[in-house]
Amino acid sequence: MLASMRDDTRRWIEADRAHCWHPFTRQAEWCAPEHEPLIIVRGEGASLWDSEGRRYLDGNSTIWTNIHGHGHPAINEAITKQLEQISHVSFLGFTHPTAIELAEKLCGFFPPHTLERVFYSDDGSTAVECALKLALQYRQQCGEPERKNFIAFADGYHGDTLGAASLGGVNRFFERFKGNGYAVRHVDSLETLRSLPNSELQEVAAVVIEPLIQGVNEMRPWPTGMLAQLRAWCDMHGIHLILDEVMTGFGRTGAMFACQKEGVIPDFLCLAKGLTGGYLPLAATLTTGKVYEAFLGSADRAFYYGHSFSANPLGCAAALASLKLFETEKTLEKLPAKIDHLRAGLADLKARRPLVHEVRQCGFVAGIELRQIDGTKFPVESRIGEQVCREARNHGLLTRPILDTIVLMPPLCTSVTELDHAIAALNKAISRIPR
Ligand SMILES: *Cc1c(COP(=O)(O)O)cnc(C)c1O
Repeated sequence: MLASMRDDTRRWIEADRAHCWHPFTRQAEWCAPEHEPLIIVRGEGASLWDSEGRRYLDGNSTIWTNIHGHGHPAINEAITKQLEQISHVSFLGFTHPTAIELAEKLCGFFPPHTLERVFYSDDGSTAVECALKLALQYRQQCGEPERKNFIAFADGYHGDTLGAASLGGVNRFFERFKGNGYAVRHVDSLETLRSLPNSELQEVAAVVIEPLIQGVNEMRPWPTGMLAQLRAWCDMHGIHLILDEVMTGFGRTGAMFACQKEGVIPDFLCLAKGLTGGYLPLAATLTTGKVYEAFLGSADRAFYYGHSFSANPLGCAAALASLKLFETEKTLEKLPAKIDHLRAGLADLKARRPLVHEVRQCGFVAGIELRQIDGTKFPVESRIGEQVCREARNHGLLTRPILDTIVLMPPLCTSVTELDHAIAALNKAISRIPR
């Protein structure tokens, strides 16, 4: 196989095998002779090209980040313009126009006197870390030092740095590090949460949740209304609500932010992935004036936290351009028709392919769960999800499964024709699984 490739592809693969270490990857398999890693060299709109000149639809928005498509002239131009001025400014001791404007813009999505402060960091995990540390320090400074625990949801995912990882409920990722991070109680539902004893609740600083849909948990939506009920429960118990909208933010669920769908305003809102349209790493943790004020006063009240690249100007410029595109391209206005088209297409796929056990969809995010014909799960070792995605690649669709659930969440700019193409590729790929 390697023999028929271009020289540069072959050389890159060999050097990757020699020196790179990929995230969430079984490296022995990655480096095996029969595995052909794709080297992505170009993107335009919802399409990607590999080093062999083959074109694909970006079926998972480049790991859930891309919003308006790759190589968008408006975002490219904004980054280039910023680059010509300066590529980085320390937010520690200085400030700069793009970060200021972006903060103003992000707060503008929420009613006045609600979320009105933005703390920048680099990625989803650090957005969550900031929220956790802010939530703990707030309690210390408000005479409630006993509130130092968190509640998170079973099978949730909040990132891989140690603090964020201790909230994670996916055992196969986090079991190994349990006991190293924060004290976290995991609950599986609102009902379980309601059954916790008061004595325990009095030691809780905040509840953390991925609103509307859990991503890494095989794309599992929460019951409608759950988020609003959770907000009410938090208010009743004096517990902060931290929303991790790292995946759901920026139109993915059909609204700009998932929390807006249930009229909920959190105490902390974590944003990353789609913030820059998926062009650069940048994150933001939004919080209320009330939380902010607890950090004023004596020197020891300051929030001693930051990263070298906090509020990077190139990222902020990309984010401002991305938010502007929501207006000029009417991204959210165009979404409902595409969401309906996706729903109809996936219903048709399910009707045609008996191995499609369930389709779970929330806005422009879908999980297609495959099971055996009798409804039982495939044996884990058969890795059907991976097989299907490998086959889909031969039909021009790139995506990754979560176990046996195929993720389909292309950039929001994806056309209905491209959606049809993606579903046709999945149809062909699934039809290849032996029953
Ligand atoms: C991806 C993700 C994170 C982690 O973000 P990184 O940028 O990968 O650190 C956190 N929470 C949710 C819900 C995510 O989907």
